[in-house]
Amino acid sequence: MTATIPDSLTGMGQGALHVVRTLRNAGHEAFFVGGCVRDLLLGEVPDDYDIVTSAHPDVVQTLFPRTYPVGVSFGVILVSEGDFLYEVATYRKEAEYTDGRHPSQVSFATAKEDVYRRDFTVNGLLMDPETGEAVDYVGGVADIERRVIRTVGNPEERFAEDHLRMLRAVRFAANLGFLIDVETLGAIKQHSADIARVSAERIREEMTRILIGPGPRQGMELLQATGLLSQLLPEIEALRGVSQPPQFHPEGDVWEHTLTMLALLPLEERRHDTEAGGRLAWAVLLHDAGKPATRTESETGVHFYGHVQKGVEIAAAIMRRLKFSKADFDVVLALTENHMRFMHVQDMRSNTVKKFLRMPDFDLHLALHRLDCLGSHGHLDNDLFCRGKLKELTTEDLRPPRLMTGHDLLALGFQPGPLVREILNALEDAQLNGEIATAQEAQQLVISRFLPGSAVNGHE
Ligand code: ATP
Ligand code: MG
Repeated sequence: MTATIPDSLTGMGQGALHVVRTLRNAGHEAFFVGGCVRDLLLGEVPDDYDIVTSAHPDVVQTLFPRTYPVGVSFGVILVSEGDFLYEVATYRKEAEYTDGRHPSQVSFATAKEDVYRRDFTVNGLLMDPETGEAVDYVGGVADIERRVIRTVGNPEERFAEDHLRMLRAVRFAANLGFLIDVETLGAIKQHSADIARVSAERIREEMTRILIGPGPRQGMELLQATGLLSQLLPEIEALRGVSQPPQFHPEGDVWEHTLTMLALLPLEERRHDTEAGGRLAWAVLLHDAGKPATRTESETGVHFYGHVQKGVEIAAAIMRRLKFSKADFDVVLALTENHMRFMHVQDMRSNTVKKFLRMPDFDLHLALHRLDCLGSHGHLDNDLFCRGKLKELTTEDLRPPRLMTGHDLLALGFQPGPLVREILNALEDAQLNGEIATAQEAQQLVISRFLPGSAVNGHE
């Protein structure tokens, strides 16, 4: 199997080719390796290029003017070439894994040994960038052609060495649209409980990459089928079989609803803004997590009273467990907490609608709601209502300049405290509802509603 390079290489690829040529001209072996080879053979543009060489790290450092010794102990040097950075790694083999996560030591080796330590055959290919020809010690070319993820060597041993590889297998299968080879799949099922020993950060990162990739539905189905989901997110495994009223959810149970929404996540947006895309994807996964625990059935039908509150608790627990950043935690929780409010948006008073529309990250809230509808009954009237309002209302309609400040209220004789906040809120609501529009009208409202009577006497 051959890729049509070097002509088709992008700027980043040309730089990588230059790095390989420099190493070769100095008498060393050098190849493209790993994900970039896989992507080139699939006809895709790699996100980055990794290079392996027989040259030792100290030699690599002398051959290039700008290098960063990021992992000298592993033989990895970052080489800066043009506008790009390349990982240049000396061939290495890893001796023994003692804890299922980190090799206990590495030593320099041959090209063949280097690819033997890699996780999957499709990631274990070398490429001569001068010809585009793959150098295949592991059967990776055949697996790319068959579209299969298979471990290099015995899957049981490879997963016992590094448990994260089980999750990586699912991620590559989902993102590439490949199947997992039957023996590799069997080994993951066998060892799925070991995934609990991998760090929360690594699990979160892999899960996010599954969710924001091109095949989130396939990814979740594979996690479920392998037993990894019940280890990692039993709360989401619990969505399976939780049936819902077919008039609102013709697609099926809560699990099916969630997967349908994941499959509808707009891929382009996810590619452009992975931070927002990741938050939206996690919110899709978590938004109905409260349903299994709150499902009731009576003459009036199936209900999920309080599922939002329960869902917020479950989502918070999951995100704490997976050590999400505070910012991600807050946004995903807000998305879960507010997702049902869209149902009432057309009955809200003007002030409430405006405050709703100006919520932080409203575009994400709206996107979640839209997916919720498209992934079930398909009625978009509340979505369209919000979009219409957003078009019609100006920024000033949503956030009008204050008619009175806290300072003005103190000048009227109010003491600093909660009442001042309450009055300011009442003034803003009246303004958003169009009941008052000038400072004078604001003052009149304060006098008529807050000055006479007991409230103000206590403050004088
Ligand atoms: P992506 O396009 O997602 O970056 P990639 O193949 O480049 O895919 P990386 O995680 O960047 O994946 O890893 C680079 C290469 O290092 C892989 O292709 C694989 O050969 C090797 N590798 C990475 N992680 C492991 C691991 N846990 N066990 C064995 N080999 C690994
Ligand atoms: Mg990579």
